[in-house]
Amino acid sequence: MNFIEQIIEEDIQNRKNDAKVHTRFPPEPNGYLHIGHAKSICLNFGIAQKYNGLCNLRLDDTNPVKEDTEYVDSIKEDIQWLGFQWAEEHYASDYFDQLYLWAEQLIQDGLAYVDDQSQEEISKGRGVPTQPGTESPYRNRSVEENLDLFRRMRAGEFPDGSRVLRAKIDMASPNMHFRDPIMYRILHADHHRTGSKWCIYPMYDFAHGQSDSIEGITHSICTLEFEVHRPLYDWFCEALHIHHPQQIEFARLNLNYTIMSKRKLLQLVKENYVNGWDDPRMPTICGLRRRGYTPAAIRNFAETVGVAKRDNIIDVSLLEFCAREDLNKTAIRTMAVLDPVKLIIDNYPEDQVEMMDAVNNPEDEGAGTRKVPFAKELWIERADFRENADKKFYRLSIDREVRLKYAYIIKCTHIVKDENGEITEIHCTYDPLTKSGMPDSNRKVKATIHWVPVKHSKAAEVRLFDRLFNVPAPDDCEEGKTFLDNLNPNSLITTQAWVEEGLTYEKASTIKHFQFERIGYFYCDPDSTEEKLVFNKTVSLKQ
Ligand code: ATP
Ligand code: MG
Repeated sequence: MNFIEQIIEEDIQNRKNDAKVHTRFPPEPNGYLHIGHAKSICLNFGIAQKYNGLCNLRLDDTNPVKEDTEYVDSIKEDIQWLGFQWAEEHYASDYFDQLYLWAEQLIQDGLAYVDDQSQEEISKGRGVPTQPGTESPYRNRSVEENLDLFRRMRAGEFPDGSRVLRAKIDMASPNMHFRDPIMYRILHADHHRTGSKWCIYPMYDFAHGQSDSIEGITHSICTLEFEVHRPLYDWFCEALHIHHPQQIEFARLNLNYTIMSKRKLLQLVKENYVNGWDDPRMPTICGLRRRGYTPAAIRNFAETVGVAKRDNIIDVSLLEFCAREDLNKTAIRTMAVLDPVKLIIDNYPEDQVEMMDAVNNPEDEGAGTRKVPFAKELWIERADFRENADKKFYRLSIDREVRLKYAYIIKCTHIVKDENGEITEIHCTYDPLTKSGMPDSNRKVKATIHWVPVKHSKAAEVRLFDRLFNVPAPDDCEEGKTFLDNLNPNSLITTQAWVEEGLTYEKASTIKHFQFERIGYFYCDPDSTEEKLVFNKTVSLKQ
């Protein structure tokens, strides 16, 4: 049980909020969701599930300039893909009328005023935490004048930036957020939902807590940077005499070798450093999906990471571990050769093709078996042969034996090279008694290698990924450099592989997740066609 669950269980015991639990996930629709958001989604929806409560989706759309319905749609798709369904769908912009009325109420109560100072003057007046700030010369306007000015702000009489509405709290507070925070600003911009109805927009602090309150949220879970906003969250709820949800902060998820700022992810997309938000190298949920991550892997990751009160950095290999663990149980096995060299079995009949029994998933009997054609000429991995093999190399070498997976034990006899010294053919003989069901089928050799028949395999494109950034903390850079200087120029390698001919487009695009035996987990990319399959490497088999 984490510390948030502890708080909630106590609240339930004390019958606070009639022992009900209602959380929400409140993304701003200004970008695609990333793995950090996934953590927050699993936490908020997970708590609602665990305590028989509800979790809302609230699009926190109070900043018209950066927001778009494209992002709203992607957010909904990603949450559902992760396996969660919200109880209610809301938009902060649906509360603009109510928020406006509440702002007038605070003016009436002498708790808010219109300030004509410029942005710079306001910042300067706030001062520094160790010294009291200076009060605005407009701070003591009458209620009538404030109401009149605020109504005219709304009516569109004033240009952007000329006036703001501020809460009248305490210009000497050690908490800078208490020094007369801005509630409304003038912004003549169209909103993706309210169009041109508004030219004043509420600030985060005047919208978030009230939105929680309107929805009857009981526990408003957010990340640590909002801890300093909490007194203000509480102040507005108290000043307005409305339902007062409890804000609880936890440490945001940070991953090494990764950036998670939406602004920077947007820059990677806009400036074509990656191929879109769903590029498999991106830490976005849609990028992870296209990489071949499963919802279960991401949920397990979020669970394993846990909920912390202090900021920390999680190793990205933990995410990879969670992918392996899930895919091992579910991915269908197939053979594929990524860096081929030809193996010729000299004593195998020229035109013979045998159908070998292969297991689809040793972890799941229900996945069944398939037949794989076997013939005289095969592709094997170049790395599975070594000319000058030492004792530690157990795979193929001259005069040594290995087993061909699902087939025979072979012994290498000689090799053929081209004029550059590159091996073009590996010759061997096979032992017909070593096939499964034959007398010597249990004879032990030190290694088993995979293969595909030259005449019964097909080409596929394979995309291999490395980390998008070269360094553990891409945001930490020297003077004059940016996170872009830390991009790994070799993060994508596209190559051609030979795969089993039985791996049809139909099969690949339905099953999607495969284990290429002895190599790793691969995902059938949506770029695949009947003519050409494309696979993304999700993660290798071992670290
Ligand atoms: P950015 O600063 O990159 O725009 P954000 O935090 O502003 O990200 P929001 O859309 O406001 O993004 O986030 C929605 C919810 O997801 C918030 O409750 C936020 O606290 C949470 N969240 C965002 N990033 C993380 C993270 N790395 N770890 C955990 N929760 C996160
Ligand atoms: Mg935010």
